[in-house]
Amino acid sequence: MAKLDDKVAVITGASSGIGEATAEALAAEGAAVVVAARREERLEDLVGRINGNGGKALGITCDVTDEQQAHDLIKRGRDEFGRVDILVNNAGVMQLSKIQKGLSDEWRTMFEVNVLGLLYATDAAIEMMKEQGSGHLVNISSLASRGTRPGLGVYSGTKMAVNGISESLRQELLEDNIRVTMVEPGAVETELPDHITDEEAREGLSSLLEQLDPLKAEDIANAVVYVVTQPERVSINEILIRPSQQPN
Ligand code: NDP
Repeated sequence: MAKLDDKVAVITGASSGIGEATAEALAAEGAAVVVAARREERLEDLVGRINGNGGKALGITCDVTDEQQAHDLIKRGRDEFGRVDILVNNAGVMQLSKIQKGLSDEWRTMFEVNVLGLLYATDAAIEMMKEQGSGHLVNISSLASRGTRPGLGVYSGTKMAVNGISESLRQELLEDNIRVTMVEPGAVETELPDHITDEEAREGLSSLLEQLDPLKAEDIANAVVYVVTQPERVSINEILIRPSQQPN
């Protein structure tokens, strides 16, 4: 018997990177997975791969910044698989720039996806998990929640918000047998930097990454599998994972 047989996991931002790897890793442990993002074709490929390997997967196109879509995602997961045991709030964007450059559309997008999107999906999942009597919320935060530097401020702000929300949720949901974990990766090789429009920030990040052997998405997926496969008495609240050479 696999460790997550009979469990159902919803993963947001599963069309690439950490979310995609996490969906595959949870499915490999036996979980039925509901994979969500905006890029439908990518989700179809992922669902095909998981189902082809003997797993159970359902793809749902969802923009997490739309509260109704985020709520429907959780409901459709339950309609399809009967329950939702794990929600991995992974969808995120990182558009770095110094604040004085005033790229306010990018600030808004980051707060809408990284913070509000997480809250919308969480809100719907909590209701369901309370009815079930158990659940696990895994919020993908960042090393950027632990400190910041010029150009990282707004993204850091969103991830600091994720940590504050996660710790508050942990305390609010103790009695409901719902565990909450924040996972804080350092540099991971994914599509995340592709959306940076500010040249200075792109160059700054590239030169930082050149000095490192970045993590793979699978490294974070393995951490998520670890936190959700512990006995019910164990609540892993926070995991910080850096590439071995990343200074800060
Ligand atoms: P990717 O860009 O590969 O993945 C981001 C995912 O978020 C995609 O699947 C994207 O799908 C989805 N997404 C973006 N906007 C929305 C939206 N409005 N609604 C639904 N889904 C959305 O990057 P990563 O895998 O690296 O990022 C995953 C998480 O990890 C993020 O929260 C990121 O902040 C965090 N992280 C990443 C680090 C890194 O170095 N890579 C370090 C620390 C944290 P689509 O475009 O199809 O909607």
